[in-house]
Amino acid sequence: MKNFDYIRPETAAEARDAAARPGARLLAGGTTLVDLARAGAETPDLVVDISRLAAAEPRLGAIEALEGEGGSGGETLRLGALVTMARAEADPTLRLAAPAVAQSLALAASPQIRNMATLGGNLLQRTRCPYFRDPAAFPSCNKRAPGSGCSALGGPWKGRAALGATASCVAAYPGDLAAALVAFDAVVEIAGPEGVRDLPVAGLFLTPLDAGSAARDTGLAPGEMIEGIRLPASAAAARSTYLKIRDRASYEFATVGVAAGLDLGPDGTVRDARIALTGVAPVPLRARAAEAALLGAPLTEEAAARAGRLAFAPDPAGPDSDAPDPGAARFKLTLGPRVVARALLTLGGLA
Ligand code: FAD
Repeated sequence: MKNFDYIRPETAAEARDAAARPGARLLAGGTTLVDLARAGAETPDLVVDISRLAAAEPRLGAIEALEGEGGSGGETLRLGALVTMARAEADPTLRLAAPAVAQSLALAASPQIRNMATLGGNLLQRTRCPYFRDPAAFPSCNKRAPGSGCSALGGPWKGRAALGATASCVAAYPGDLAAALVAFDAVVEIAGPEGVRDLPVAGLFLTPLDAGSAARDTGLAPGEMIEGIRLPASAAAARSTYLKIRDRASYEFATVGVAAGLDLGPDGTVRDARIALTGVAPVPLRARAAEAALLGAPLTEEAAARAGRLAFAPDPAGPDSDAPDPGAARFKLTLGPRVVARALLTLGGLA
């Protein structure tokens, strides 16, 4: 591992100043950053340890209901960026307001990791692409060294993106939480040198095409830090689920992860539908065409199956000239629609 300097700032402002220095990386739970630094996939010059910052800045470690900021179904929940995954998954208010969000955390990683890992760090975890994570064996990786090529392109890695990949990068976004937050319109609070800004979680992540480079995963600028997540209440969030299909029953990333929520009228008509996917594309994906197709009619097996197909249909407005063959991930295009349909049927009491 490359040597680096280490500091533990006393305040969030100090942390942001330090994080703005070239080569600096924030360290929260450290469960991603340390692995990547050991592997040489991240080579920080300065590690800025924010893991104990909540003692001085309690809002970074708090879960609170924001009064007067309610959606249709209740109050907005604010989750501090340094709240651990374990604490959030067990929070009774979150479990009631958005079961899919709590489940996405409970189904991730292992209890030991969830005890250390934070919500901010979870959102910003990097791809599990084995070619990205092993620079010694695979020097070519546009995510690590822009312009060097993509070792994964012709490789047998079945975890790669089946939707939205480009010839420069086929890495899939792996996190579970982000999909659940994207489905329910959560927002991240970002503080940085230019002040504080809000960004929908869906807007945090960049595809290689958005970013102009596979190396840039998010739109965060140097010195910007996620301070919290706001999750608006909604009837669809309150009736939601997270369905994770993976190779092992625990301690495994999603092959396909689906966050879904439904608001059903008294006669069973779908009034609101939310669907977001992870593990299948470079970023967590909201399946808006699938959601729209469900509205205004009762949920049936046919409707759920159609929504599943739409969720995995290529975006007609998206650029596809650069799209490589999904290769070893092709099976996700068959599996994924079924996972979406099953999540919806579970919510509708039809599974
Ligand atoms: P860190 O490692 O401290 O940081 C991660 C990144 O985020 C770094 O780049 C850091 O600079 C940045 N960062 C951290 N906090 C902030 C902030 N507040 N503002 C700006 N930048 C910040 N995840 C899943 O979703 N599902 C799984 O099934 C899953 N399985 C796993 C299995 C294993 C074996 C391991 C090791 C990890 C797994 N993970 C899984 C990933 C795990 O959830 C993440 O490692 C963890 O959530 C990262 O949080 P952290 O606080 O430790 O982040």
